[in-house]
Amino acid sequence: MTATGSCQCGQVQLVVSGEALVTYACHCRDCQKRTGSAFSMGLVMLAEQVALKGECTPWTRTSDDGHTNTRHSCSQCGNIIYGDSSATPGLWKLQAGLLDDTSALCPDVHIWTCRKQGWVSLPADTRCFDTQPQDLTELLTTRQ
Ligand SMILES: [Zn+2]
Ligand SMILES: [Zn+2]
Repeated sequence: MTATGSCQCGQVQLVVSGEALVTYACHCRDCQKRTGSAFSMGLVMLAEQVALKGECTPWTRTSDDGHTNTRHSCSQCGNIIYGDSSATPGLWKLQAGLLDDTSALCPDVHIWTCRKQGWVSLPADTRCFDTQPQDLTELLTTRQ
């Protein structure tokens, strides 16, 4: 399976190969702020699954546990494309909404549900974390 995607202005183009390792929705305050919305949706993928064309601008911050987290945005329109972390080398968190066809996307797991907005109701059979697992790879085992 391959899927295509782009940022809003089209400067960054993506071709994604294969399935995401996990599809997640994050309800944390940072995601609410950066999206201006109730939650973000991301695809955890191996870096080599994503072919990216175009120029990205990195923004790096140090997480509470001392890792370096970098967010890569289109250098023209500013759309966030993906994030990576020194905690999980080789893994990308790709912004799910960039795909041209998002109709089949559905989160396998919801994280930071302690910050979930009241109007958002989650399916009873979906795996949820109050915050997030220490180790991102724990999310990968949630896929059935
Ligand atoms: Zn752009
Ligand atoms: Zn978040």
